[in-house]
Amino acid sequence: MPTTPRAADLAHAFHPQTNLAAHESAGPFLIARGEGIFVADEDGRRFLDGMAGLWCTGLGYSEPRLVEAARHQLATLPYCQSFASRAHEPGTRLAEELAAIAPAGLTRAFFASSGSEANDTAIKLAWYYWVARGAPERTTILARKRAYHGTTIASASLTGLPIMHGGFHLPQGFVRHLTAPHFVGEAQPGETETEFANRLASELEETIAELGPETIAAFIAEPVIGAGGVILPPEGYFDRIQPILRRHGILLIADEVITGLGRLGTMWGCEAFRIRPDIMTCAKMLTSAYQPLSAVLVSDDIYRSIAEESGRRGSFGHGFTYSAHPVACAVAREVLAIYAERDILGHVRAVAPHFQHRLALLGQSPLVREARGMGLIAGLEMRAPSDAARLEAAARAEGLLLRAVAGDTVAICPPLIISESEIDDLFDRAARALAAIAH
Ligand code: PLP
Repeated sequence: MPTTPRAADLAHAFHPQTNLAAHESAGPFLIARGEGIFVADEDGRRFLDGMAGLWCTGLGYSEPRLVEAARHQLATLPYCQSFASRAHEPGTRLAEELAAIAPAGLTRAFFASSGSEANDTAIKLAWYYWVARGAPERTTILARKRAYHGTTIASASLTGLPIMHGGFHLPQGFVRHLTAPHFVGEAQPGETETEFANRLASELEETIAELGPETIAAFIAEPVIGAGGVILPPEGYFDRIQPILRRHGILLIADEVITGLGRLGTMWGCEAFRIRPDIMTCAKMLTSAYQPLSAVLVSDDIYRSIAEESGRRGSFGHGFTYSAHPVACAVAREVLAIYAERDILGHVRAVAPHFQHRLALLGQSPLVREARGMGLIAGLEMRAPSDAARLEAAARAEGLLLRAVAGDTVAICPPLIISESEIDDLFDRAARALAAIAH
């Protein structure tokens, strides 16, 4: 006797990042199809996807060229490993194309399937690098509170959100979390943004002095924190901290899993904030989420040291069955081709001012503590934290998908292809939802 999808879900599915107890009564929210920036449920009810899935469907849901790129690669070579020097054209060409557009100096691409795997890989590369350089005691990773770097064991430890830690016995000894760069939440009374950034830089200096620079491998940061509450760094933050890291020989890892591929109107968040990373991770919009793929880009210096160490050891002992999966790489190459042909970055820059203007109007609501954003990403931090979940639910009733994150903030992060009139549609729905919870 076939069951309904809902019954099958309730009986057998195990949902990630879900209140599983509440799910038993609420049941699944089943999505059946997608078109442009909209998705639809089984009954054909349409929702404007104001979150691009999970910050990832940059080119929307019905891009035929991505479908065709995947189909063609599936029909030609659906799988090929990349262990032991095995290679294929989609993987090697994608590495070449990423090196051509990456922040200065990042010349090598290691592929994995998710952002978490990419960040775990970045940490392992930093450790291996320091072993290769004769400094094996450099093991500590500096991260920030409210950061989100994923949920595998290492990346969850890097993440600075308590809800990702509770119950899991994570090995957090290798991580030191610094203050979140969250001006409205962390600034002292009367402190300007620049003073706040200076204080965060002093904290970094003091932490390095306390731990000893010779024990610190790397510092990891999202250019704009995403799941931790869409937090933009305070004015001057990255300009202040980078010289400190450089002075102490600490590697800088940029987590561009959300900000990479145009979210801020630049190809990388690193460009927007003058960040010169030694290692950079990206995922999500790299394939517009049509396939799971992530990349870790490293500098030539890091690659050379790791290559020499692997020679001494007999192999570089890290990698995944699906590293450089050919179908995912073929889709990513098509994404990059579409970005260039359609000037997706130019489009983001053209519509972002309207997006941010409409955001600012929403921020005038007395329910909102702060509306902040950049490019096509935004966060509405609510005065009453419980309003974040209420606003997400009210938005859904208006046919708009938003996401409550970090307990108090509603994130807005639509597909990059959103038009100006669709931005109006998004914010009209959000305004109605806000009005609904005000009563
Ligand atoms: N890093 C950042 C900045 C993210 O936002 C995410 C996911 O949202 C990750 C890493 C983890 O990516 P994944 O869920 O693909 O493992």
